[in-house]
Amino acid sequence: DLLVVGSANADLVIGVERRPAAGETVLGSDLAVHPGGKGANQAVAAARLGARTALLARVGDDAHGRLLLDSQRTAGVDTTGVLTGGAPTGVALITVDPSGDNSIVVSPGANARLTPEDVRAAAGLLTRARVVSAQLEVPLETVVEAVRQLAPGSRFVLNPSPPRPLPQELLDACDPLIVNEHEARVILGAGQAGSTPEDWARALLARGPRSVVVTLGAEGALVASAEGLTRVPSLKVDAVDTTGAGDAFAAALAWRLGAGVPLAEAAAYAARVGAAAVTKPGAQESYPTAAEVEAL
Ligand code: ADP
Repeated sequence: DLLVVGSANADLVIGVERRPAAGETVLGSDLAVHPGGKGANQAVAAARLGARTALLARVGDDAHGRLLLDSQRTAGVDTTGVLTGGAPTGVALITVDPSGDNSIVVSPGANARLTPEDVRAAAGLLTRARVVSAQLEVPLETVVEAVRQLAPGSRFVLNPSPPRPLPQELLDACDPLIVNEHEARVILGAGQAGSTPEDWARALLARGPRSVVVTLGAEGALVASAEGLTRVPSLKVDAVDTTGAGDAFAAALAWRLGAGVPLAEAAAYAARVGAAAVTKPGAQESYPTAAEVEAL
């Protein structure tokens, strides 16, 4: 089974002609409310593909929390690990201007209250998990606890987003560490990144992870491990909306790794899933089934 440890947010989206200045009010479009957050996105993406998936997360006892539980259940995710209460559900307030540029304010809310104790209390889910997949929209110490509670022989996959310097214990556990260019640069630190994806992959691998995957948008991905570097091509698709593509990629990769597929092959499959996800608007709404990935 796949266990996703991470965030669940309600994305509140309003289209605007332009952003308000301080003290100003602008009128926008009708409000659209979408289930989101990297943890919730990953769990839905994996379950849509057919993975047996559980989510360990925290939402508020409110309407947004119910929306998130609903979307998880509809996708077939085991939600026994979705805890309720402690703070309002996390929210992303998103304004989109006519050129498609986003301005986003995130209120982590209940995500910030997902504790190491919550991870220890989810022992049953961790025991069943062949792969645990995490991101960084919940407290770092909670993600570190997930590594400490990993069942023997299980695998840990991390997409360090939003990026920050990582403790050695976390770096050492990653197999793989999945980063885009921005995340690679932040984790490596200023002036240490080099200039090519190959440079980033080698430098990150030297920091301790057993493997590294650098995602490159329309260029696909680069896989690095002790066996060397492998380029994974992308499919040529008409990109409509790249929101949540990275989450779909990470989820698909974690699922295939759990099925015993070698890293480069799993990444090639994940790139197809990422490509499918960019052909439709939205995040969770854009995630393909396994049949749709085959048909691409
Ligand atoms: P993030 O959203 O985290 O920045 P990327 O933009 O690298 O991640 O996208 C993740 C994966 O989704 C890529 O590795 C690729 O496989 C797929 N993908 C993203 N954008 C495109 C695109 N325009 N065309 C085809 N595949 C894409």
